[in-house]
Amino acid sequence: MEKRELVCVACPLGCGITVTLGDGGEVLEVTGNTCKRGDAYARSECTAPTRSLTTTVRVEGGKAYVVPVKSAGPVPKGMMFDCMKVINQASVKAPVKIGDVVIKNVLGTGVDIVATNNAE
Ligand code: SF4
Repeated sequence: MEKRELVCVACPLGCGITVTLGDGGEVLEVTGNTCKRGDAYARSECTAPTRSLTTTVRVEGGKAYVVPVKSAGPVPKGMMFDCMKVINQASVKAPVKIGDVVIKNVLGTGVDIVATNNAE
């Protein structure tokens, strides 16, 4: 049995959560959360951790050299590095509008990389 201490990031309150894990890594108990979102966050963090990704992508033929982008949803934590490699090698032709999909379904995660600003 193992205990993991987490800080919930699902809202600004930042409750301290303790998760008790079984020998196989299964979640046995979640305590310290104030609401169900904290319970869901803690279970997900211990079994299938994900992260949102924010970075920039190179722009071709525009005034700006790069445009800021983010993942449209959370990406599995273990794939963050490989996703960043793909994004770093990508480029997009100007003009780019907020919300444009810059990379669709990055590395088969089902998550699109979208622009968070315009680039003329
Ligand atoms: S457990 Fe609920 S109230 Fe506490 S930080 Fe998470 S989302 Fe907010």
